[in-house]
Amino acid sequence: MKIPFSLPVIDDDVVKEMQDTLTNTGWLTTGPKTRTLEEEIRKFCNASEVLCVNSWTSGAMLMLRWFGIGYGDEVIIPAYTYSATALCALNMGATPVMVDVKDDFTIDESKLKSAITSKTKAILPVDIGGWPCDYNAIKRVLEDKEVKSLFTPSNPTQEKLDRILVISDAAHSLGATFDGIESGLLSDVTVFSLHSVKNITTGEGGAIVLNLPEQFDQAKELTYLRALALNGQNKSAFEKNQPGAWRYDIIDQGLKVNMPDLCASVGLSQMRRYRSTLLPERKEIFSYYVEKLSQYDWAIIPPHKDNLRESSYHLFMLRVKDFSEEQRDRMIQIISESGVGVNVHYIPMAMLTLFKSRGYNISDYPQTYELYKNEISLPIYNGLTKDQLDLVISTVVDAYNKVIE
Ligand SMILES: *Cc1c(COP(=O)(O)O)cnc(C)c1O
Repeated sequence: MKIPFSLPVIDDDVVKEMQDTLTNTGWLTTGPKTRTLEEEIRKFCNASEVLCVNSWTSGAMLMLRWFGIGYGDEVIIPAYTYSATALCALNMGATPVMVDVKDDFTIDESKLKSAITSKTKAILPVDIGGWPCDYNAIKRVLEDKEVKSLFTPSNPTQEKLDRILVISDAAHSLGATFDGIESGLLSDVTVFSLHSVKNITTGEGGAIVLNLPEQFDQAKELTYLRALALNGQNKSAFEKNQPGAWRYDIIDQGLKVNMPDLCASVGLSQMRRYRSTLLPERKEIFSYYVEKLSQYDWAIIPPHKDNLRESSYHLFMLRVKDFSEEQRDRMIQIISESGVGVNVHYIPMAMLTLFKSRGYNISDYPQTYELYKNEISLPIYNGLTKDQLDLVISTVVDAYNKVIE
C-alpha cells in the first residue's frame, strides 16, 4: 500500500460542480462561481469582504501594492515559512526582514520590536500548519509608543492607517480560531491559499479577507481591489458582457491575478461542506496521530489547541526529540522507501540559494534551525483511512528504531 503525502478532494460533488460550469454557464473566467465562492468564504469567516485571486502569492502582492509598498520599504516575516512569504515582498521591490520564531513555529514577538525601523510598512505573521500566531502579542508590539512613532507614511492609504499593516499569511489556517474568532478576522488583512495541497483548493488560488479598521470603507476598498486584481479594469469581462455594459475604464495600474470560475467550481464544492465534514475529518486524523504518537517519548507533538487557539489541522509537523538533521534525513529516506509520503515544512529560507546570496544567514535564526532539523510532516488529508494511518504510524516508528539502532 502506497500512501501519498497529499491528495486533494476530487469526488462526485466536485465533478458535478465543475461539469455545471463547463456545460451550463458558458463562462470559464471570473464570474458567478467565483462570486459564490467568495460568499461561502465570507460567511465561513463572518467577514464582510472577500476577494478571490489566483494564488496566495499574488493576493499578498496585491495587498502590498494596495498599501503602496515598494522599493526602500521593509516587510517583516518569520524566518520559518514557505518562501512565498518573502517573495511577495521581493517581487514588489521591498526588503523582507526575517525574525526568528518560538518553539511553536510562530513569529517571536519578543524579537519583533528590534526588527522594526522607520522603513517597516507591513508585517506578515504566518499561521504555520494552521496554528494561529499570538495576535494579541503582535498587537501589543505594534501599539508600543516607540514603534508607533517610527512609522513614516508615504501615501494617503498609509496615512489613513497610520501604523504598520498586519497581513496574515493564513495559507494554512482557513478554519483556525483565536479567542473564538475565525482566522480571517485576526488582523487587518488575511490571505488564504487555495493551492492544491491546502485544506480547500481551487487547483491554484487564494482568497483575501478584509478586516480593516473603521476609518476604511471596506466595501469601497474591495471594489478598488477587484479592479486592481484585473489589470486595474473597473469591470470584469463578465460584467462587460452584459447588454450595453461594454464601456470600461482602467482606473489604476493593477496586476492580473483574478480567479477563473473553472477553478472556483472545485473550491466551491469543497467549501460548502468544509465546516460540516471536511474540517472535522482532518481534526479526527490529527487527533489519531496525537493519540498514537504520544506514547513515544521521542515524538514531539505539534501545537494544535490551547485555551485560546485551535488549529485548522493543515499539517502534522512531527518532530523527533534530539535528532540531528542527518538522522532526520535518514528517517525520511526509510519512510519514503516504505511507500509513505512525508515532507519537511520548511527548509528555512536562509538555507536556500536566493536568500543566502542576499545575505540571510541561518545562524541568525537559531530556533528556526532547531525546529527544521528534526521536523517530519506526516500525511493529513480527507479520505485517509484508519488502516492507512496505522500504516503511517508503524512505518514512522520502525524508521525511528532503525535510525537509532
Ligand atoms: C502554500 C503557501 C504559500 C503560497 O501559496 P500559493 O497559493 O501557492 O501562492 C504561502 N505561504 C505559505 C506558508 C504556504 O504554505
